[in-house]
Amino acid sequence: MLNFNNKLVEIKNLIINAKNIFIASHIQPDGDNLGSLLGLGLGLKELNNNINMIKVDDIPKDYTFLPKINELKEFSTDVKADLFIALDCGDIDRLGYAKEIAINSNNIINIDHHKTNTMFGAFNFVFPGISSTGEIVFEFLKSLDIEVTKDIATALYTAISTDTGSFIYSNTTSRTYEIAGELIDKNIDLNEIVVNVYQSKSLEGTKLYIDSLNTLEFNFDSKVTTIYVTKEMIENNDASWDDTEGLVNFARDIENVELACLFKEYKENEIKISMRSKKYVNVSKIAEVFNGGGHIRAAGCTVYDNLENAKIKIFKEIEKYI
Ligand code: 5GP
Ligand code: MN
Repeated sequence: MLNFNNKLVEIKNLIINAKNIFIASHIQPDGDNLGSLLGLGLGLKELNNNINMIKVDDIPKDYTFLPKINELKEFSTDVKADLFIALDCGDIDRLGYAKEIAINSNNIINIDHHKTNTMFGAFNFVFPGISSTGEIVFEFLKSLDIEVTKDIATALYTAISTDTGSFIYSNTTSRTYEIAGELIDKNIDLNEIVVNVYQSKSLEGTKLYIDSLNTLEFNFDSKVTTIYVTKEMIENNDASWDDTEGLVNFARDIENVELACLFKEYKENEIKISMRSKKYVNVSKIAEVFNGGGHIRAAGCTVYDNLENAKIKIFKEIEKYI
């Protein structure tokens, strides 16, 4: 069981007495942030009937099956939040437009598992050793004596499953499995989760995979792979940026590869880089050099330069660790 710094009574009172609560997670949403957002949002309704879940970005198709996902709403940045809860955000900028709502709120609770978290809340529940924000939310709800319903369990299982790479990454602990077991005991539809999250790649997305795999390059004695996706490739295949999900894992999963980099050319001089490692490179250290962040084995950043220079800059950092 996680220790919420003996702040639980104070936090519970804060939640119960808040005039309203706004909860948000990061832009470019993934399974962990959407799952933990829904899990916490639905759970806290037991304590407070003014819960608002903020939609900060478009929801990837794979996650539209999540129960009550339509309860996520866009808000004006003028709303006055009494209590703001940020989930899975290493820094406050990750909130997108919801950052304004957070800054103007009376109190921020920051719940996260990124090692690089900047501790921007009045209360910071940051546990870098925990697999996922979903796992922290589960412990948080339990500590508050809130019932985990089937809908909450579906959301949290999705969060934990996606952030552990289906329970295979080194962040997976026996406690992660125990929690997954408890969630499965809520009678969730495991097959529905698996098919929606892992087995629903669109034809357009598949064609994009083929194109981008053709850009696969081996560097540093084949220990580092790179792969590119350009805006043009997205357009040519009628695909979307969401379709790049999982691509970097493919480049990582090759024999003897330690580090894989996916370069996404959002604009000519805006390159989003996703990095994954296997055994010894701490990719969050590399991402931090470019004001990004993440975890030891999965991190990301944006380089404001062209594709060629972005690669040169990243390689300069990689060289130090490989
Ligand atoms: P991805 O490569 O899938 O976008 O992200 C991998 C991990 O790094 C995730 O945990 C994500 O939250 C984190 N991450 C990705 N991009 C950024 C960034 O620009 N800033 C920070 N702080 N974290 C990031
Ligand atoms: Mn996460």
